[in-house]
Amino acid sequence: MVELASLGRTGTVRNYVGGEWTTPDGGEELSTINPATGEELATVPFSSGEDVDDAVRTANEAFREWSELPVEERIQPLFRLKSLLEEHHDELAELLVRDHGKTKAEALGELRRGIENVEVACGIPSMMQSGTLLNAAPDIDESAVRKPLGAFAAITPFNFPGMIPLWFLPYAVATGNSFILKPSEQDPLVPQRLFELIDEAGFPDGVVQLVNGGKDTVNALLDHEGVEGISFVGSTPIAKLVYERAAANGKRVQAQGGAKNHIIVTETADLEFAAEQTVSSACACAGERCLANDVVLIEESVYDEFSELVVAKADEQIVGYGLDEETDIGSLISEDHEATVRNYVQTGVEEGATVLRDGRDVTVEGYEDGNFLGPTVFGDVAEDMVISREEIFGPVLALDSVPSLEDAIERMNGSRFGNAASLFTGRGADARRFRHDAEIGNIGVNVGTSAPMAFFHFGGWKDSFFGDLHAQGEDMIQFYTDKAIYIERWPDA
Ligand code: NAD
Repeated sequence: MVELASLGRTGTVRNYVGGEWTTPDGGEELSTINPATGEELATVPFSSGEDVDDAVRTANEAFREWSELPVEERIQPLFRLKSLLEEHHDELAELLVRDHGKTKAEALGELRRGIENVEVACGIPSMMQSGTLLNAAPDIDESAVRKPLGAFAAITPFNFPGMIPLWFLPYAVATGNSFILKPSEQDPLVPQRLFELIDEAGFPDGVVQLVNGGKDTVNALLDHEGVEGISFVGSTPIAKLVYERAAANGKRVQAQGGAKNHIIVTETADLEFAAEQTVSSACACAGERCLANDVVLIEESVYDEFSELVVAKADEQIVGYGLDEETDIGSLISEDHEATVRNYVQTGVEEGATVLRDGRDVTVEGYEDGNFLGPTVFGDVAEDMVISREEIFGPVLALDSVPSLEDAIERMNGSRFGNAASLFTGRGADARRFRHDAEIGNIGVNVGTSAPMAFFHFGGWKDSFFGDLHAQGEDMIQFYTDKAIYIERWPDA
């Protein structure tokens, strides 16, 4: 069991509503398990419709007073939260490894990205300003202002439990809204600890809420008339459902979905560097990243050489427990997910792809109950194969050769997803063509994983995203506010 003050002696995940810890009362519950050791960490009860209603009503009651506080006062708890997150960075990272399975270095990096969003939101006094024009008409000055709207909710996935809640929460509250988080039920312990720190940071009661649960909890938020808008991050089928249901209920909604990302390698690339970046992109976090680039299209002339380099780099990866310093690839989130990924590998074999490296036989001494899979590399993966089209969310690479950059771009753009892609090349003209033609939200050149910093928006295209305003940065200010125009005339008496 994990020891957190808010879990109490029973090791039960709690909700945080109106500044108090409460026990969710929906009846259903599950256990959260350390995916490397099989150790049970806590019980996760799900919230009932009444629990959600309570959180939404509390958030709405807190909204007016909070939104009318001077903006400088609204950002003070965020400065305190930033310093608490720094102080507890290491401890949060360890908890993240235990609940999720990624490596400690990845957990520290994830939390760093979360902290950066808190920092950016502290700049709201500048970011929230709109324009004023003197003498827009005779005796009239005209101003545009941004106003907060009410209570917003975010529903987040399992793969970045420390970072993704912070794509939303700091911006929602800094702009003057109140906020409700529904984290993934698979690894809710870092969000739980975040809320202990949020409590310590001193937001007024009711400004931030935590509700735990699953599908029914999400639906209660989507249907509640007291929720102004929904941010969702998760798989594409659920993102689409959430987008449609929240929009049908008249809410603002932004829903980030799944992915199938490509790397293109041209013959002028630094092949050694590109292979190292490719393996890192596909296998870090055990492949459980929406930005993992796992389909690799290689110019024919360098296909054999590059494939060998990829296999050699994959061989160097150490699979193990995330808290062991030498580990490069941690565990997959659950037994079920491990089975799904292994099924995809079997599908690849049956579809006739060439197995260049088989990671299925991995054993991690001392962690025999863990959900591990070694890096698996397929060659000659045709465009229509399942392993070339569907998101696997495990350390599985699909390599194929292409006659030219143009063919590679055409194949990449044929995917229904558009989250991320990277090109490795030594030619500027190739880079320009790629950036211009890619139907993708996050485009990298000689960068393995194109993850935007907090002061830029984060979001994909096509079936990787439903909505218009993305997460992070300036888009969040727009999502959490509506614009109004002030037109006034004060003629001289
Ligand atoms: P998921 O869709 O299973 O769950 C995400 C959230 O939705 C969770 O909070 C869960 O409780 C809730 N949920 C699950 N089923 C639901 C249902 N039927 N109705 C309503 N709510 C439901 O996703 P996951 O497995 O937790 O996360 C992995 C997925 O998230 C991958 O597809 C990954 O690509 C995607 N992801 C996307 C981004 C991005 O920025 N585009 C970032 C991270 C993860």
